[in-house]
Amino acid sequence: MRAGDGAATLRMHQQEEETDMRITWLGHSAVHLELAGKSIAIDPFWTGNPKFPQGYEERVQRIDAIVVTHGHDDHFGDTVRLAKKYGATVIGQWEICMEAANAGVEKIQPMNTGGCIEVEGVRYAMVPAFHSSATLRDGGLFTRGDPAGFVILGEGRSVYHAGDTCLFSDMALVHRLYRPQIGFLPVGDRFTMGPEQAAIACNEFLHLDLVVPIHWGTFDLLHGDPHEFARQVTRGRVHIATPGESFTA
Ligand SMILES: [Zn+2]
Repeated sequence: MRAGDGAATLRMHQQEEETDMRITWLGHSAVHLELAGKSIAIDPFWTGNPKFPQGYEERVQRIDAIVVTHGHDDHFGDTVRLAKKYGATVIGQWEICMEAANAGVEKIQPMNTGGCIEVEGVRYAMVPAFHSSATLRDGGLFTRGDPAGFVILGEGRSVYHAGDTCLFSDMALVHRLYRPQIGFLPVGDRFTMGPEQAAIACNEFLHLDLVVPIHWGTFDLLHGDPHEFARQVTRGRVHIATPGESFTA
């Protein structure tokens, strides 16, 4: 296979007619994406998330898929509860999916880094992230696999959710392989990249049209300032969202 064939295939995918998608940031890393007729919850930290918009869940009629980037509770969050309530498919690393299945979730799509799957007309690619992924249980550490990011593709749109990560130059491969137009990048610092690193990701590697800073402001520990991030981004538009505000892109 020639170098570049993969990118050509993905560009073909992007030649599909583009339709608008609806995006709602729910605070922290939680995103509600309505794309290609599907309702997708990413990192559903809904209960206990101090920035989660009050009353939002009552307005959600449907969730078809739940995408989990890694196993920390501020990301795994309400995965099991929401998957059961809405009959949603859990998409994540094998360990995450097994835990969900053991807890009674019926529909799972386990995968791992480098893989790309199609579920009900939407494609999900798991890409690297540098972080950790265990949780505390019974006084010890319990593994939930490794951290990841996701690219979600449907109807000509490509959306990158970086999960929790530092800056890494292989974000250039995420751009080369999947050409994301929209990105959700952590900027809160301490546990992830801060504003300066996230701006380098945009300016040098990802080439996004629109980027939404996430993983900031939830707790005092996350001191990274999204406005500083916006000041340093020279490539693509930054939208500093308000939790619960829906917008199309
Ligand atoms: Zn986190």
